Amino acid sequence: MIVILEPSIQKNSEEYRNIMAYLDNLPNIRHNIHEVQGSQQALTEIYLIGETASISKENIEALPGIERVVRVSQSYRILGRHAADDNRSSSFEYNGVTFSQDNLHVVAGLCAVDTPKHVEMMMKALQENGQTCTRMGAYKPRTNPYSFQGNGKSCLNYVFELAGKYGIKVVVMEITHEIHIEESRQALEQTGHPTGVMLQIGTRNTQNFELLKSVGKQQNFPILLKRGFGITLEESLNAAEYLASEGNHQVIFALRGVKTHLGDPHRNLVDFTHVPVVKRLTRMPVCIDPSHSVGNRIKAPDGLLEVQHATAQGVIAGANMILVDFHPHPEKALVDGPQALLLEELPWFLEDVQIAREAYEKRRDVAAKYS
Ligand code: PEP
Ligand code: MN
Repeated sequence: MIVILEPSIQKNSEEYRNIMAYLDNLPNIRHNIHEVQGSQQALTEIYLIGETASISKENIEALPGIERVVRVSQSYRILGRHAADDNRSSSFEYNGVTFSQDNLHVVAGLCAVDTPKHVEMMMKALQENGQTCTRMGAYKPRTNPYSFQGNGKSCLNYVFELAGKYGIKVVVMEITHEIHIEESRQALEQTGHPTGVMLQIGTRNTQNFELLKSVGKQQNFPILLKRGFGITLEESLNAAEYLASEGNHQVIFALRGVKTHLGDPHRNLVDFTHVPVVKRLTRMPVCIDPSHSVGNRIKAPDGLLEVQHATAQGVIAGANMILVDFHPHPEKALVDGPQALLLEELPWFLEDVQIAREAYEKRRDVAAKYS
């Protein structure tokens, strides 16, 4: 159950104290208070957790200072869409960039940061092509313990400084341990906040519940959560709800393919038909990662890369973000070189994405005409 307070209510008011006293007295119920930044004003939402079935919605709504009370289904209480209240926000803003179920961002960049020179070449290409988001991996979770594990915090300062130099507003950065949150915060502080950071949780950590709790507790950075590659969609969406239940609602959900030999010869079985499913079940913007799904840079007989075909499938289904690997010299990349696209291919990639996005928008308009 969600109790939404009137936007004008003050924390030190009698009304607010009365509401809290009432909620504190409900038997077998605990509550979490969330401040939500709406497009016009800040809203206070109180989530009631426990045996809410026997609570009277009307009695709470009768208290002064309450705007409305919404009964929600058991699953995805915070991030889910609920029939009782389907007009709650499906977007958020971070560092001047709006992430929403209605728009699309391309997040191209290095799977793993290797040298400052390659980072700079990447950032420069992004700026020349009008891009303001990138992906840069400093902490790499690797299957083989002897593989390169990422440059870690030693590269953060130059990554953030170069991002600022080339007008990049958001650097998507995978973290594998809660200490990386603090390291990112410190590096931003040391460099004077030249850019913003979105914390990525990779597919191997989708159900690392302690990491989810730590990342969910902080409010500095939005979060990109990848679908687990060997668990159900429902389990992965519950992982996203963990983040929100700890307080951070700025969550984007990424599809990146699932592990099965039935996806061969692709690295994973592409699951982008789930884009509209995630948008139906939750209010999270949906990202697709065609690079880790397809895992190669092979060209189909029609001249398009298989990564582009997968991207188009996700975009034409309404995806809101594309996380895609590029590298100035894939043959020198320390991680995932074989799937990286070339910087010269960036304008082509973007033009191809635009075609799919326009097709999606037309499809949406036609659907509105017939509904
Ligand atoms: C990545 O994006 O670099 C990555 C490791 O992805 P995933 O967690 O989907 O394998
Ligand atoms: Mn990778």
